[in-house]
Amino acid sequence: MRHLTLSRTQWEQMRDYVEAQAPLEACGLLGGRDGVVKTVIPVKNAAHSPVRFRMDPLEQLRAFEQIESDGMDLLAIFHSHPCGPAVPSPTDIAEAYYEVIQVIWSPGEGEWLAHAFWIESGHAAEVPLIVTGV
Ligand SMILES: [Zn+2]
Repeated sequence: MRHLTLSRTQWEQMRDYVEAQAPLEACGLLGGRDGVVKTVIPVKNAAHSPVRFRMDPLEQLRAFEQIESDGMDLLAIFHSHPCGPAVPSPTDIAEAYYEVIQVIWSPGEGEWLAHAFWIESGHAAEVPLIVTGV
């Protein structure tokens, strides 16, 4: 699924989380079906770093179990770049092990911005991130 649809509430839930974790990178998973997000699951950044993230293994496992038990698919991984840029870093591209959309949050001109990317063969292409209604 090369696009992602989420509600305004889910967008704000992620935005509030990455904002609260700044200046450290924040990360998490998005579960849902057919490109439509059903749940936002923040995961602790075990790297405690402003420039990289490593999901806490236990929290990541619990998040995968929640997604599976709710009959959802892992749609996307999100993380923030509190110091920019708004696109995946070379490390993000090299470490994109899962075939899912990557959502990158970065502080824009006073407001956090989210962009979605599909990473394949060492190349990141932006894909639509659609925010609907509430
Ligand atoms: Zn990154």
